[in-house]
Amino acid sequence: MCPSCPGVSEDAEHVFFACPRFDLLRSTWAEALTKKTQPEFLIEAMLSSNAVWQATSAFATRVLQELRRLEKKAVGNQNP
Ligand SMILES: [Zn+2]
Repeated sequence: MCPSCPGVSEDAEHVFFACPRFDLLRSTWAEALTKKTQPEFLIEAMLSSNAVWQATSAFATRVLQELRRLEKKAVGNQNP
């Protein structure tokens, strides 16, 4: 489950395309894309542009770092 979206499972699609926790990162990423950052356009966009591929890779790395940071914080809160 996503800690900031009640009732939503925290899968990759949610985290990358929907979760408000990553709106800021997503908007930076979206600037590098010519089409909307929707799953149906993403593969095509990545395959057609090295810049989009680079931006997507950077975005994914930042999201995963942020998830790890939040995870550590959550563990810290449980065990003060
Ligand atoms: Zn969420």
